[in-house]
Amino acid sequence: MTFENLNLIAPILEALKTEGYTTPTPIQAQTIPLALEGKDVLGCAQTGTGKTAAFAIPIIQLMSQDRTHHNGKRPIRSLILTPTRELAIQIAESFENYGANTNLKYEVIFGGVSQNSQVKSLRLGIDVLIATPGRLLDLISQKFVHLNQLQFFVLDEADRMLDMGFLNDVKKIIAKIPQKRQSLFFSATMPDPIVKLANTILVNPSKVEV
Ligand code: AMP
Repeated sequence: MTFENLNLIAPILEALKTEGYTTPTPIQAQTIPLALEGKDVLGCAQTGTGKTAAFAIPIIQLMSQDRTHHNGKRPIRSLILTPTRELAIQIAESFENYGANTNLKYEVIFGGVSQNSQVKSLRLGIDVLIATPGRLLDLISQKFVHLNQLQFFVLDEADRMLDMGFLNDVKKIIAKIPQKRQSLFFSATMPDPIVKLANTILVNPSKVEV
């Protein structure tokens, strides 16, 4: 199995070559085809398995193939929710790397720092927003973030969201995004509240376990 077998567009294959990736990891080999078909995915996978690329690659591909013309400022079409600043930064770097040959724009927002530069970049318009829950809710309530045109939603490390007490924030965010969307949900473990949360977010999901 190589990335060539996954029907990826040339700009992504080129970027993966630059990264030095040759073989998809198991979570990538399973998740990428399902996500490219438009399916919701419930992925049971830990950090270190390559799960970031498993969701970033199909989202970059689907977004760059979408020829919808947006008048004026580009709307946020993808939201990646992750529990920590470190993970948010890593995910943003992954999008930058795998999407290096596309013209998508990304921004990462998290708490604990001034919101000024985050707001400035949101004003210019971005395609993919990578965020921690608290700062995202904050910027939504200040009307700096509009998610009404969202097409792709990723919940990363759902069980850590629960452990860190972010479940209510996550639920508030989900209530603010369009129901018609594609969702990818990742968790290392599947305790009861996480199974329940997955059931409220995903529609007829394909399950992937590594
Ligand atoms: P993640 O589980 O997404 O945090 O990724 C773990 C690490 O594996 C990261 O440093 C990635 O850059 C790397 N990685 C992800 N996918 C691949 C791949 N297919 N081949 C080689 N390295 C990879």
